[in-house]
Amino acid sequence: MALRTLLDRSLKKMGKAMNPVVKASALEMIQRAYTEGITVQLSAGHRSMEEQAVLYGQGRVYSYKGKNYSNPAKPIVTNAKPGQSYHNFGLAIDFFIVSDDGTKAIWTVDSRWKRVAAIGKELGFEWGGDWRAFKDYPHLEMTGGLTYTQLQAGKTPNLTKISEGTTMPKTSYGDSQTISIQKTLNSRYKTNLAVDGFFGPKTRTALLKGIQTELNKQCNKKLAVDGKWGPKTKAAILPLKKGNGCNITWLLQAAPYMKGFDPGPLDARFGSKTEAALYKFQKASNISADKQAGQETWNQLLASKSQI
Ligand SMILES: [Zn+2]
Repeated sequence: MALRTLLDRSLKKMGKAMNPVVKASALEMIQRAYTEGITVQLSAGHRSMEEQAVLYGQGRVYSYKGKNYSNPAKPIVTNAKPGQSYHNFGLAIDFFIVSDDGTKAIWTVDSRWKRVAAIGKELGFEWGGDWRAFKDYPHLEMTGGLTYTQLQAGKTPNLTKISEGTTMPKTSYGDSQTISIQKTLNSRYKTNLAVDGFFGPKTRTALLKGIQTELNKQCNKKLAVDGKWGPKTKAAILPLKKGNGCNITWLLQAAPYMKGFDPGPLDARFGSKTEAALYKFQKASNISADKQAGQETWNQLLASKSQI
């Protein structure tokens, strides 16, 4: 299940009239969940007053602005009339979990579902699953403290996007540096990555394949090129320090970028900028900050979360 697909489908569902902060935070939530192996997609975003009237008319006899929206044969799906849902103002989203093969929507409120809600809350959303009277598990909203009445009167909430910390992975979709890393990995190591500018698990695997290929070529190792950070690859890794320059140095520059540390231009030379990025990364990871890429540093850069 490609991240791009999840984001594209979600963008479509959100519609064009979303509040920009809510929209950006929603995309960020999908990307963060993806880095944890959770595939989540949005089923709704902005909903016009007419669309809300259609929903409210289900299970009722109802007219809105002189138009008949009655649909009593269907079950009731909402208690919100037009203008009584934050969806009407582009401030709410609904989500669901997608099966690994991308074909099924899963609506079970399990640990993955709750994790997505928690990520949403970290990004400033309120979750419908926390409501006391009526629980709306797929629903997330940002109100900015405004009531429907205030929103109907034309007030707009003053929202700010909760930004990533400096040690967060580079998750921004379409990131140009990541696009160039993915293109290089594809052309040099035939890794067949989707060039989407997202530094996710697949790009990490491709990076590891590159490292294994280079170790086999340059150091006569006989590693399986499987993209896994296993004991053999770990033992074979080449320590690097300032002054080194080869294809492994390029891979060393790409790795901290994945973790949110900018090594400057990826020029395959271990210069001052690479050294500075490594130093910051070592400090942030609580490992000895010797500005060199020894085994411990490589391990922090390449091991998956569960391996550290
Ligand atoms: Zn909702």
